[in-house]
Amino acid sequence: MKDKYILLDRDKTVNEDPGYLNDASKVKLLPDVISGLKLLKDFNFKFAIITNQSGLSRGLIKPDELEAVNNRILELLKEGGIFIEKIFVCPHQDEDNCGCRKPKDGLVKKALQEIEFEPGRSYVVGDKFRDIVAAESLNIDGILVGKNEETEFKKPANLIFQAKDMKEAAEFILQREFEKENSRKIFFSYADETFENYLRNLRNEKKTMVFTNGCFDILHPGHLQYLWQASNLADVLVVGLNTDESVKKLKGQTRPVNNLKDRLLMLSNLSYVDAVVPFSEDTPVGILETVRPDIHVKGGDYIAEKLPEYTVVKKYGGRAVILPFRKGYSTTGILEKGNRRV
Ligand SMILES: [Zn+2]
Repeated sequence: MKDKYILLDRDKTVNEDPGYLNDASKVKLLPDVISGLKLLKDFNFKFAIITNQSGLSRGLIKPDELEAVNNRILELLKEGGIFIEKIFVCPHQDEDNCGCRKPKDGLVKKALQEIEFEPGRSYVVGDKFRDIVAAESLNIDGILVGKNEETEFKKPANLIFQAKDMKEAAEFILQREFEKENSRKIFFSYADETFENYLRNLRNEKKTMVFTNGCFDILHPGHLQYLWQASNLADVLVVGLNTDESVKKLKGQTRPVNNLKDRLLMLSNLSYVDAVVPFSEDTPVGILETVRPDIHVKGGDYIAEKLPEYTVVKKYGGRAVILPFRKGYSTTGILEKGNRRV
């Protein structure tokens, strides 16, 4: 796999900008740049700088001054343990009509050729819309740092976050990386095409499927054991997750404690859960008719034949299985215990 990169703008993103910086002795890194980039370095990101330096064509910066300034920036970053693979410079001004001055994408494309990074796993970080726009054609997600009140360009489509500094940008990227890690397991609706394709593939691959549904609001060992047991009944475990509205209806106005997005995130990060998909109906009958699992599992003291979903499962030739709950755990119990301690 190709490397993942953070494409950094230079002035006001990495270093302070007095305007047409041409004196290496005046170079100062912005606060939190080192600590932010270190977080990302430890997460195996590499770094490159992509910078507009129109001072060159305006005659305000001489080529050797630019080199000295760049070297000073590299030196300061290196002292902090950060290595920049390469600095890409556009020397032009708007009137030159070049293809490399940001917001044009020339330099980002050049970087892609020379350092061969993976755009889908990389990010661009800059203080201006134009820094972000330059990476839009390659679908690279962008993060702004610092104050940004410009109106010159409309908000770039690839802008995903506005951070106050590099540290906050880095923390956001890590959060995003965590969310991406198991996002392939998360589906948005059991009625949409992506989920239908997923089910079709499972059937083509002759995988057996077990399904269960629930709120899974505050995860506890009882949930985990239950899901783990269910997953052992077939090749693939699909979990139907009640939407926030349907949890409210089932459990009362104060629930869920964790919203749907968070609950999807938690379940998708369990190794024995293969897919999670929300449903909003009072019973799982509708979702069961779509998923048609080989086995439908329910936890607790039920009698399979008496479940409302039993007839549905029976009709297409599946079976319903009741699993016992691990003793001593319930979300309600946890909440009561918590309240007593407040
Ligand atoms: Zn240029």
